[in-house]
Amino acid sequence: MAGSALVVGAGVGGLATAIGLRRAGWQVSILERRTEVERYGTAFGIHPTAQAALDRLGVGEKFLARAVPYRTARIRTPEGKALAALPLERIERKAGRPEMLISRPYLLDILLAELDALGDVTVTFGRQVTDVEALAAEHDLVVGADGIRSVVRAARFGAGSAPRGIGTVAWIGIADIETHVHGETWGEGRFFGMTPVEPGRTNWYAAVPEAATADELRGYFTGWHEPIPRILAETDPSTWIRYEMRHLYPALPTFVDQEKVALVGDAAHAMTPNLGQGACTAILDAEALTRAIAAYGVTRLGSALRAYDAERRRSAQRVAFGSRNLHRFMATRRTWLRDSLLRLLPA
Ligand SMILES: Cc1cc2nc3c(=O)[nH]c(=O)nc-3n(C[C@H](O)[C@H](O)[C@H](O)COP(=O)(O)OP(=O)(O)OC[C@H]3O[C@@H](n4cnc5c(N)ncnc54)[C@H](O)[C@@H]3O)c2cc1C
Repeated sequence: MAGSALVVGAGVGGLATAIGLRRAGWQVSILERRTEVERYGTAFGIHPTAQAALDRLGVGEKFLARAVPYRTARIRTPEGKALAALPLERIERKAGRPEMLISRPYLLDILLAELDALGDVTVTFGRQVTDVEALAAEHDLVVGADGIRSVVRAARFGAGSAPRGIGTVAWIGIADIETHVHGETWGEGRFFGMTPVEPGRTNWYAAVPEAATADELRGYFTGWHEPIPRILAETDPSTWIRYEMRHLYPALPTFVDQEKVALVGDAAHAMTPNLGQGACTAILDAEALTRAIAAYGVTRLGSALRAYDAERRRSAQRVAFGSRNLHRFMATRRTWLRDSLLRLLPA
């Protein structure tokens, strides 16, 4: 038997959850505070496990039509010397398919189009949820997919876990320049990454202790190997996105509450972007939650939520912990020690 669900937030986690619930026969509504889908954002890395979850949600083929493989990448010094390889070849060998990259707007479009095709899902834009209890009274299930500053989390799980800054600013963008110098360049307390995203363009990201303006950001990478200065010089800073790197701290003791509420994605375990797993973990959460709900049905919703929590919480929190630790390693000022360790890895 199916029930009625309210999903708060139309990001990757919320849209993927709505697809899974609708496929399980549930009545689904989504409330999104923005007035339309925010069609900005750069590229998401999508690991093979998350690609398999997209397959199970029925959007795998559409995903592959817009995504590009990420096969070869190196970690370099600011002078351009390769220190080690990112483990992309190993990932592909093990999983039988490569890591993929897709632009955020494309992924959102694919998920929205699938919801449209499934039919009977109401997506209401311009509705900022404030009263979670009222929504819980009206629906069998409320899913908090409302990002790092989740109101669902605050209302149902308390304020004990909250976003915490890590003293680093990230800038991201997509340049209309194609390069084959993919991977990351690690300097002292800062790093710069470049990945493919679509023909003729390069997805880039930079992390520095502080940079309020584009010129300050450029200053951190003066003298670094090409095409880093070129990307920063030749692309329009008005298209760049700046944000403070944060994660949810401390980790939540549960992702579910009282047989009624579940958290997915950043609402449950916002993490630093170092491992490139923010979108992947949101997709894995959405697929695991909706698979459990389909298996147990509305009459055993409590069991479904507990099964979801058991499958996803430790795993997502391990990734978040790993990402935070990787950040410390990447952004260290003891570069000699870090680079010596990197040289021990396969080049
Ligand atoms: C505009 C935007 C651009 C981004 N760009 C990038 C990027 O380029 N690269 C990258 O790695 N990550 C980016 N992210 C983060 C990335 O999308 C997430 O880390 C990841 O996909 C997890 O998704 P999520 O659905 O859990 O959270 P989010 O993607 O944050 O989605 C949460 C959604 O909930 C909505 N919401 C929040 N509060 C309420 C409320 N009270 N009522 C109703 N709706 C609410 C938000 O508007 C948002 O649409 C971006 C996020 C946003 C919102």
